Amino acid sequence: MTAALGIDIGGTKTAVALVADDGTVQGLRSAPSGRGPAGVVDVAAALAHEVLNSCGGGGASVGACMPGLVDPVTGWARHAVNLGVDSLDLAGELSTRLGAPVVVENDVKAAAYGAWRMRPPGSAVGQALAYLNLGTGLASAVVRDGVVVRGIDGAAGEIGHLPIAGDAPCTCGQVGCLETVASGSALARLWPEGARRARDPFVAAAAGDALAAAAVDVLCTGVGLAVQVLALASGAERVVVGGGLSGLGGPLLDGVRADLARRARGSRIIEALDLAGRVELLPPDVPVAALGAAWIGGRGWSHVAARPSAGGVRPAVPSGERVG
Ligand SMILES: [Zn+2]
Repeated sequence: MTAALGIDIGGTKTAVALVADDGTVQGLRSAPSGRGPAGVVDVAAALAHEVLNSCGGGGASVGACMPGLVDPVTGWARHAVNLGVDSLDLAGELSTRLGAPVVVENDVKAAAYGAWRMRPPGSAVGQALAYLNLGTGLASAVVRDGVVVRGIDGAAGEIGHLPIAGDAPCTCGQVGCLETVASGSALARLWPEGARRARDPFVAAAAGDALAAAAVDVLCTGVGLAVQVLALASGAERVVVGGGLSGLGGPLLDGVRADLARRARGSRIIEALDLAGRVELLPPDVPVAALGAAWIGGRGWSHVAARPSAGGVRPAVPSGERVG
């Protein structure tokens, strides 16, 4: 059985997983992410060697992902502000350190691909999946027929900056972005006391904290709106919610489904879409971005939609999707 190595360089943590063809995680290591281009690569390469040495996984294909604008064609990553990376030849640097070709992708897009590959047994390969990442910010990605939808500069799916939700100023310069009501930073603004002590807002709301109750109300309505936007814009059969906030678990899913049910009661068209039935939460403790990166590395280039004149020569695209 061949194995694939997936490297997920996150804003706080880097995780590396060695994944078998059937999706079994054979080895997993994580550590705080390095800072700056050299630090980021040092930590990622060290963890990769650790996993490969512990599992005897020599010869594995390698995929890596990180935040920011990541171009799978050129291999470069840009504007990963939280990691102190302005620009980095991620594929080139990691290839040199690991002695193998490395395919790279944006972290949310890799997670979306991972969620798509983890589809329930029996569901169609051609199914479209929308992935909603609720981290410090809000981002999304769509996978259709096994291909990550990119758009120009990889900006497809950046719905966090649709200014359609209220009047709070956003870090991007606009007002009322979806991210200002449906993200970790939104929750921290709405309920600073809880954020400081890392408390669960649903638990606090149930215990009578009025500010926490108001905050989860805004959050669930905001996530419901994000799900509606994604479902309407992409037509994806499934909308999978992941990212740090998905750790809030059942109460978050219940709250979002209640919001979607409320939307359905007000509109025949929305009711017919069964949004509440199509939204799901990523299972906890699944390193979905590392899995996605591993599978993307294993597929070479075929997760990347063809695009004209990318400013570089694309390697040949292997045909066919291997179903894992
Ligand atoms: Zn914004």
